[in-house]
Amino acid sequence: MSIAPDSLLLALAPVFIASMAAEYWLLRRRGLDERYAMRDTACNIALALAQQASDKAAWFATLPLFACLHQHRLWHIDAGWPSFIALFIAQDLLYYLFHRASHRVRWMWAAHSVHHSSTRMNFSTALRQSPLYPLAAMWAFWLPLAWVGFEPVWIITTVLGNLALQFFVHTTLFDGFGRLSLILNTPSAHRVHHACNARYLDCNYAGVLMIWDHLFGSYIAQDPAEPCRFGTVKPVPGNNPWTVMLAEWRQILSDTRRASGAKQRCRRLFGPPADYTK
Ligand SMILES: [Zn+2]
Ligand SMILES: [Zn+2]
Repeated sequence: MSIAPDSLLLALAPVFIASMAAEYWLLRRRGLDERYAMRDTACNIALALAQQASDKAAWFATLPLFACLHQHRLWHIDAGWPSFIALFIAQDLLYYLFHRASHRVRWMWAAHSVHHSSTRMNFSTALRQSPLYPLAAMWAFWLPLAWVGFEPVWIITTVLGNLALQFFVHTTLFDGFGRLSLILNTPSAHRVHHACNARYLDCNYAGVLMIWDHLFGSYIAQDPAEPCRFGTVKPVPGNNPWTVMLAEWRQILSDTRRASGAKQRCRRLFGPPADYTK
């Protein structure tokens, strides 16, 4: 049975569910099962399912644009390991840029803040994603790959494969990793990314490769003296998926309404979110 590339994450659902069950079992054995909460996990799963539906719709809506750019591609690229590795590295770099922009541009933060809104960190946190990502133009970041010459179907497979690998950095089970965090994103580094402690804000944007954070100066290692506090600076109350999904958009609407003049309105829509909710 073949898997449609845009259904890769749904096809991997059994792996994700088994990993969450194993993580819960291990945490329970260590007396740390409060790191899971039924309502929090249920909210994460509901958001993941809604996001899968919206992502599929966005993919079908934007596919003609990807196909058009690929038709006018700069180079012809043959399938094979070298081109797969090149695509993986290029897409991971674009993911880094998308993720960094999602923390620096409030319009994009409105979608991405959903992923940061849980005060817990476990494998299910990886599933807490906004169905409104298409509004934040996530898909636009992959367009250059089609123009360069990569097949659109390879691109979507790589994007989803990258996201699938990121599932495994959402855990408090493992520490350390030493020099591995020079090259790869690790649970320790990603915990720092999810922390709302002032000194940990806006860092460790890596998807799979941590090299981008080292190259662009956004890497912060966890200080053992300062444990991570998870969530957003301005907490999102409750675990109603609808409320969680709309919290920052509502805040943007209210802030923009109260803005005086076009310049201030523009800043509240597209300026850094730090001034408001992070
Ligand atoms: Zn983030
Ligand atoms: Zn995350």
